[in-house]
Amino acid sequence: MSKQDNILIIDDSPVQAKMLKSILEDDYTITLANTAEAGLECARNGSFCLVLLDVVMPGMDGFGLLKRLQEEVVTQHTPVILITSLSDVEHEERGLTLGAVDYITKPYHPPIVRARIHTQVKLYRYQQQIELRAMLDPMTGISNRRSYDACCHQKWQDAIRLGLPLSLCMMDIDKFKVYNDTFGHPAGDKVICSVAQTAHHYLRRSTDFLARYGGEEFVAISIGSETAEVFEQFKRLRQAVEDLHIPHNPEASPWVTVSIGGITVQPKQGDVYDTYLKVADAMLYDAKRLGRNRVIWSNGKLEQLKEK
Ligand code: GH3
Ligand code: MG
Ligand code: MG
Repeated sequence: MSKQDNILIIDDSPVQAKMLKSILEDDYTITLANTAEAGLECARNGSFCLVLLDVVMPGMDGFGLLKRLQEEVVTQHTPVILITSLSDVEHEERGLTLGAVDYITKPYHPPIVRARIHTQVKLYRYQQQIELRAMLDPMTGISNRRSYDACCHQKWQDAIRLGLPLSLCMMDIDKFKVYNDTFGHPAGDKVICSVAQTAHHYLRRSTDFLARYGGEEFVAISIGSETAEVFEQFKRLRQAVEDLHIPHNPEASPWVTVSIGGITVQPKQGDVYDTYLKVADAMLYDAKRLGRNRVIWSNGKLEQLKEK
């Protein structure tokens, strides 16, 4: 528990709400809402690790609000504890069946309520940590393939909805098999981390996304910039990797380098994302074929921008 954990109390009775708040405010940051409708509005910002919900309220009651919270994407994983004077088993059964994580009846013993709330917040934080870890590549610390798979179609839809260009990039370390064979796998791992770190530095706007696609390959998505601007951005990134001056096997290349292929398009409803991923991959293939350590970019209209 910490003041960084936000708890939302939804109760139409100011007296009850204040009482609950007083037993929690030393440990948590508390927000109060006095109707189900106001509570739903607050909960939608997604910042709460727990909702304490009164059942009997005028207008929408606690059961109704619980159902609504479970239907909405942002709030459906926020745990809800029902706190109510309805102490019969039928109501308790209904609340728990609807998905409340706990059901506390009034009058309650404050230390027990506090302990139950601590437990739920701890569980929620633990679950969040596990989910976050499952989306990260443990070696480089950047997003992993699973995270990419989960977000690429969303980015695509965002670009369509906002009418903005979307850029898709594939990046691959050059002659990396030779590197491993020369310097060993652990040294190869360090190179992958250095390249990831450099790419991360060049792709850190909130509209950029970078993931390790697999092995020594990376994928990046960025929204909002035109072809020429993105081409320049990835040329700078490619140069930055070369400028790390990580010695390669001299027979392959003086330094470790990357090849980059990509495409910028204005996606429209009905376009298929995977078609463009294939174009980015084809651009990467051309970059390799034409000599590696270069960026080749498609403007989505059969024109290629070539770095060298
Ligand atoms: P190209 O320039 O055409 O990309 O040649 P390449 O040798 O990089 O390509 P290839 O696909 O033949 O080899 C990729 C190598 O990357 C083979 C594999 O051992 C290595 N690799 C993949 N994942 C890892 C990893 O996690 N750590 C290390 N050290 N090496 C890896
Ligand atoms: Mg490679
Ligand atoms: Mg490869």
